[in-house]
Amino acid sequence: MTKIFIDAGHGGTDPGAVGNGLKEKDLTLKIATKVKIMLEDYKDVSVKMSRAGDTYPSLSARTKVANEWDADFFLSIHINAGGGTGYEDYIYTSASAMAKEYQSTNHVEIMKQIDMKDRGKKSANYQVLRTSSMPAILTECGFIDNAGDAAKLKQIGNDGTANVSPNQMTLEDVTEEENGRFEAEPDTQKEDDDPFATDLSDDDSLE
Ligand SMILES: [Zn+2]
Repeated sequence: MTKIFIDAGHGGTDPGAVGNGLKEKDLTLKIATKVKIMLEDYKDVSVKMSRAGDTYPSLSARTKVANEWDADFFLSIHINAGGGTGYEDYIYTSASAMAKEYQSTNHVEIMKQIDMKDRGKKSANYQVLRTSSMPAILTECGFIDNAGDAAKLKQIGNDGTANVSPNQMTLEDVTEEENGRFEAEPDTQKEDDDPFATDLSDDDSLE
């Protein structure tokens, strides 16, 4: 069983980046949910998400859950801002060889699926990358404050079909129905002991 932890960045009182009528926290949840649905089509893959709704688990709580679950891979999904355009992903500055390999593999495959400028494979001292004990990458899926990227991000959820073409798949089409179905599955919630109800004091360093 391969265990994949998907972290939808931000949430709740933390909207993340905003621009062009979009909030990062909404987009990250839609993309994370879409990725979860796709991964669950594979055999022997188990997926857990850091959040299933508009809530804010602290960064330390997110990696704590992933570490205690003994995830094989940690994927944190974010949207960029600040005047650029395109997709980039990060591993920890002192990442393991396996993390570097995972980043390379994911980067190539993601770029095949999306219509965005390739900003490259990068590294940074982000908390969720530093404190996760398994290979981890953090994706920045376009710039919310760039009109062109935002137009692509706005397509997420507008199309009710789940069977989109591969070229449209990564940043689109998590429907409300899919969200509802996911949230209705009790065994995917995994929040029975409220692991996210920890302190928020160390949540300053992600971006
Ligand atoms: Zn972010």
